[in-house]
Amino acid sequence: MTGAGTVTTGRFAPSPSGRMHIGNLFSALLAWLSAKKQGGRVILRIEDLDVRRCTPAYAQQIQDDFLWLGLTWDEGPRVGGPHGPYEQSQRTALYKAALDALRARGLVYPCFCTRAELHAADAPHRSDGETVYPGTCRNLTPAEAAERARTRSPAYRLRVPAREIAVCDGHMGRYAQRLDRDCGDFLLRRSDGLYAYQLAVVADDAAMGVTEVVRGSDLLTSTPRQLLLYRLLGLTPPAFYHVPLLLAEDGRRLSKRDHDLNLEILRKRYPPEVILGKLAFLAGFHPTAEPVRVTELLSVFDWSAVPARDIIVPGDLFPA
Ligand code: GLU
Repeated sequence: MTGAGTVTTGRFAPSPSGRMHIGNLFSALLAWLSAKKQGGRVILRIEDLDVRRCTPAYAQQIQDDFLWLGLTWDEGPRVGGPHGPYEQSQRTALYKAALDALRARGLVYPCFCTRAELHAADAPHRSDGETVYPGTCRNLTPAEAAERARTRSPAYRLRVPAREIAVCDGHMGRYAQRLDRDCGDFLLRRSDGLYAYQLAVVADDAAMGVTEVVRGSDLLTSTPRQLLLYRLLGLTPPAFYHVPLLLAEDGRRLSKRDHDLNLEILRKRYPPEVILGKLAFLAGFHPTAEPVRVTELLSVFDWSAVPARDIIVPGDLFPA
């Protein structure tokens, strides 16, 4: 929901590091339905910052897959719009400006720790497997930092406050973290110059006027970090809706390696309406798994029918 006079603006933000699987598609479907049901718009942004893993070919295939399913976007690659470019790899000046603004306020410090040092540090592990940054470089003097910078280019971290940051998620409810304990000072730019997802996604969603972020619940734990960045940068955060993940029958999270359930295979086996019917059925707002067009789902889409817990995809839902 957005304030009076504001058009709801949702977004798809795929990372083109492989073909989409039905979990990616599930989040995108809910993002599209939620925005469109409110008479809103959808932006497509290609999150290709990680140049080692992302390819232009996957970016094109993801767009072809969305269009094949009827998941259109109002702004983005192929259609253009006022907030381009729509590839993160082309938007690094914006991320640099955000980093510089935070640096000017003394909120950022250079970090010279290597990966090996971070893993060796006797620090607690976060839910995503990373370690809580122990603050090794937090209090280096300018002279010490300059000395280290002679032999190693630094990463940059944000100083996080020692207080709770709570998200009121539109689907999952309240979720809070103490970033100093649960995450530590987090990366804004890596030592190889790559801007961190957390910074880029905030800078982009704000600059593109996104008012509603619908995405997989694996990103709920990132949201307090993002909310902090919105506050520190003086930006208005969007509404967040985190949606359940789709799991394989053995309870594993689906990944791009689950080839049977990726769009390359599914497109060969089924028409789009069959895939959409099954996803809408899993999402709880379509009574059967019968084929359906995406526009037909607008009348039945209902957040309250969508479960909060992760969803197991029955092995026979997409038979070979
Ligand atoms: N690019 C991220 C992904 O594909 C999504 C980021 C987001 O929705 O905030 O997992």
